[in-house]
Amino acid sequence: MRSIAALLSIAWLAGAAPAYACGADALNTSREFKVATKDVRGIGQGYPAMGLAHGEIILTFDDGPMPGTTPAILDILAKECVRATFFMIGKRAEANPALAKRVRDGGHTVGSHSYSHRELNGLPADEARDDVQRGYEAVEKAVYGNAADRPRLVRFPEFKSTPDLVSFVHQHHGAVVNTNISPADWRGQPANVTFERLRALLDRQDRGIILLHDKQPETVKLLPMLLDEMKKRKMKVVVLVPE
Ligand SMILES: [Zn+2]
Repeated sequence: MRSIAALLSIAWLAGAAPAYACGADALNTSREFKVATKDVRGIGQGYPAMGLAHGEIILTFDDGPMPGTTPAILDILAKECVRATFFMIGKRAEANPALAKRVRDGGHTVGSHSYSHRELNGLPADEARDDVQRGYEAVEKAVYGNAADRPRLVRFPEFKSTPDLVSFVHQHHGAVVNTNISPADWRGQPANVTFERLRALLDRQDRGIILLHDKQPETVKLLPMLLDEMKKRKMKVVVLVPE
């Protein structure tokens, strides 16, 4: 007899179509979190409360797509039937369009993370806006083949922005996504070190947006540890979907 998790996976596969089988004890994705970009300027720290329930976690990955590591991250997520949001750097998506598309084909949400990954609050306003726009255009061209006007999610490099940039994103059907659970995997420390930090964060925050980096080799080792920990804590994965 099939488990409920497996049945849920099949229901999801029927909609999103990535062809892989989830493990019988897969963590799974419990629901979509719709972000109404017409009304919502941003979510996460600095924005109004999100409406996540106890134990609900949104997984986000920044700075890819990176050929050496992103495929392994995608395989781990696929095995657990977990959907995440990838905030891609425009120039990396441009350089790796097949990989960018593979992220989307895996059922994940794709957002942009600027074109150049410079600290945008230090640039002249025009240049900063241009970097944000080129960022989502490059990512969307790689993923969808065009940069048509569509609901989109944006994360600023280092979370550094200005009110002008937030307005700019909002005017272009976008919402800003921040984080409230950041284990600092960007430091590249051994996965077990980052994992202990992450566990301590989860002790304090029982819901929210976790920030990871799919370009980090140690994050490939960290991710299964995190997903196991989430199972132990009976946490649920929620995926962002802009609309
Ligand atoms: Zn970044």
